[in-house]
Amino acid sequence: MLSIVSHSLVLVGIVILIVSLVVVRKIIRRLPAGRSRKSWYAMAGLIALFVVGYLGYIVIFWNQQIAIIDLIVPGIFFFGACFVWFSTFIALQTTLDVMRISDLEHETFTDPLTGIYNRRFMEQRLAEEISKARRYSFQLSVLLFDLDHFKRVNDEHGHQAGDQVLIEISALVNGQLRDSDILSRYGGEEFLIITPNTGPAEAALLAERLRARIEAHGFLRDYEGIQKPELQLTVSIGLASFGDSNDNEEILIGSADRNLYQAKNEGRNRVAAG
Ligand code: GH3
Ligand code: MG
Ligand code: MG
Repeated sequence: MLSIVSHSLVLVGIVILIVSLVVVRKIIRRLPAGRSRKSWYAMAGLIALFVVGYLGYIVIFWNQQIAIIDLIVPGIFFFGACFVWFSTFIALQTTLDVMRISDLEHETFTDPLTGIYNRRFMEQRLAEEISKARRYSFQLSVLLFDLDHFKRVNDEHGHQAGDQVLIEISALVNGQLRDSDILSRYGGEEFLIITPNTGPAEAALLAERLRARIEAHGFLRDYEGIQKPELQLTVSIGLASFGDSNDNEEILIGSADRNLYQAKNEGRNRVAAG
């Protein structure tokens, strides 16, 4: 009777360890390749070794007479297996929670149409970049740009085609920027770029390069219903750099906005820096 209890404890322990291996597999499948995934492979190896050890114990003690005191070891095997399962289960739950938080964070800071940062993220980052610029005397510029006569795109080709233009221009501009630059959708068809470590002269060169690149681009090339040649569009860009007169977020963006308005008034498809 005691040997049945002993064998049952060890056998159930083996089943629990195998379930733990399934849990570890779920964790591994959710993790990106890297150090923690390798650690979980090592963990799976250790659990497999436990299973081998448990099986060895059963083989050796299968026909042995067992006293009540001998149940201690199978008991430890059983609770050890429970401990392994619980640890892996908690790890899986934590992994899922972290993934959910990171998805939520991504959603909170991303514009759903274009996939670039939204205004909320931009405002946070601009505040951070301004305090860095202030503390370490770094240069910092912002470029606010707006599509020229964008309403016509919607009127002539439909709102969906307009959306597609916004997606295309986001990708086009993002491809022209440095990793440290931050492109965000500021409003409907207005975008703001934060360029850390960039003074007025360098920002003006970037703005002119972007303006020319957009002017040269054929939009909606693969969009059905658009007559060839592709759609030509331009942007107006307002520039402002951090400095004595532009020393906080609102004033800096306000200056860029005024300069954008000036670029529009002067005939569009141009850069204005005030
Ligand atoms: P301007 O050169 O003065 O900027 O002229 P505009 O026609 O671009 O400017 P206006 O402000 O008159 O129109 C902007 C248009 O942008 C109106 C609005 O319907 C459109 N728009 C804003 N957000 C979106 C969007 O998410 N998708 C689409 N398709 N259109 C949008
Ligand atoms: Mg516009
Ligand atoms: Mg506008």
